[in-house]
Amino acid sequence: MSGFSWDRRIARAGELSQSHAAVSELLSFYQGVARFQKQVYEKLASAEDHSVSVLLPYFPGLFALVTQTGSPALVTSSENLAQLPREDLLELLTHVWQPSQQNENEHTENGPDENSEDLPAEAAFFARALLQPYGEYLAERTRVAADASADSGADSGQVRCPFCGSKPQLAVLRPEGDGGKRSLMCCLCATEWNFRRVVCPNCGEQNKDHLPIFVAKEFDYVRVDACDTCHTYIKSIDLSKNGNAIPVVDELATVSLNLWAADNNFHKLSPNLFGV
Ligand SMILES: [Zn+2]
Ligand SMILES: [Zn+2]
Repeated sequence: MSGFSWDRRIARAGELSQSHAAVSELLSFYQGVARFQKQVYEKLASAEDHSVSVLLPYFPGLFALVTQTGSPALVTSSENLAQLPREDLLELLTHVWQPSQQNENEHTENGPDENSEDLPAEAAFFARALLQPYGEYLAERTRVAADASADSGADSGQVRCPFCGSKPQLAVLRPEGDGGKRSLMCCLCATEWNFRRVVCPNCGEQNKDHLPIFVAKEFDYVRVDACDTCHTYIKSIDLSKNGNAIPVVDELATVSLNLWAADNNFHKLSPNLFGV
């Protein structure tokens, strides 16, 4: 578990959907998805096979959930995906989940996340919704088995998840001494690893004059860490300012920041579950 249990994520989505009308529908849908992901996560513990194909039986349940509460675009996508043979669904999953590429791609531009970015956002949603609990389960199990901490890439400047090689979804700031500590959180397996505070995770820019920070009034604990050099950004959730925040949920809830960043010509380092 990432330290932010499924139950805490589900509860936080409920809280924020009550208090923020603009994202209420999005977060209610996310709540249902997180409940579904929790079930997948828990069932993986009793599965003997942990290859990606273990996720195939969960597609129909995800389609049903989307049909009930998803956006029209996701409903259409689920209807199309439901027609596909299982080999194609498996290919969709393996297209996004390619942890073995991590080392091979260390010095190239083609990490696993580009693989989800070249998919239509709706198809990527289905792959990510299933791969997140899967990746999280495997990352957790591996850490326990190897007794390796989530700090395996600590302070190395590594911009890929040390477990699965995916891009970071967001940054987390925690109080620690004067400077505060920053970690990055993987978009698929939720692994966190320490990362220096004043460095662009995309291009390595270290000059703080080129690393502007933007904060929205409504969410003063969520900021956009942008880079003028490569024009990407990542959101940071500051737990020293709001200890109730659950990073992955608060990241979704602050979609207005994404729109603002896009208007200002900044490209998000890694789209979230909903493709934004
Ligand atoms: Zn990962
Ligand atoms: Zn940069």
